[in-house]
Amino acid sequence: MDEPRTPLEDVRDRIAKTARIAKRDPEAIELIAISKTHPAEAIAPLIAQGQRLFGENRVQEAQAKWPALREAHPDITLHLVGQLQSNKADDAVALFDCIHSLDRSSLVSALAKAMDKAGRQVPCFVQVNIGAEEQKGGCAIADVPALLAEAREAEVPVTGLMCVPPLDLEPAPYFALLAKMAADHGLAQLSMGMSGDFETAVMLGATHVRVGSALFGARE
Ligand SMILES: *Cc1c(COP(=O)(O)O)cnc(C)c1O
Repeated sequence: MDEPRTPLEDVRDRIAKTARIAKRDPEAIELIAISKTHPAEAIAPLIAQGQRLFGENRVQEAQAKWPALREAHPDITLHLVGQLQSNKADDAVALFDCIHSLDRSSLVSALAKAMDKAGRQVPCFVQVNIGAEEQKGGCAIADVPALLAEAREAEVPVTGLMCVPPLDLEPAPYFALLAKMAADHGLAQLSMGMSGDFETAVMLGATHVRVGSALFGARE
């Protein structure tokens, strides 16, 4: 009989299988384990299974949880996937290895200053409001070229685009649009796909999938 598989093995398998179907290298797809709301005790088993890349959506929560975990495992990398207030830019630059939520001019300036002060370049994704949803974070599609130009000017490194497609709609057209925009701007990385749709995202070129509940179970 097969050994019972862990959620992490299951998600990794599904990514690898999808990558093979899409004729992509599975190694080229980064699995970010989104540990928001989950305590250190829930994170430890994933670290024990070899997962080293994690994501959080709040600066304060990450500050409380991660320094101790990282002390024990210095090879962990931590990504910020949630909205960032400009007044938290210094904290974010100090704590995170990548920021997925660059979405406005004021944040470009705040991050440029913070990176300069810290002497530390943190790669960023520009988050695109791909479904033009009023309540959602992200830069409007029409404003992406100007924001990318501002980031270049300010020497804030942008490596790719990120999106969260509208809930309850087929995500594929949104992922395809994000991929097209990234290609048009010569950006190699695509942060897209969550627990419910990461296979679709991998088919359409995701380089970073952000998976929470499929690894940790449902959040409160
Ligand atoms: C919470 C969150 C995720 C993970 O969502 P799941 O559906 O639990 O996989 C991914 N991306 C962002 C931006 C999130 O806030």
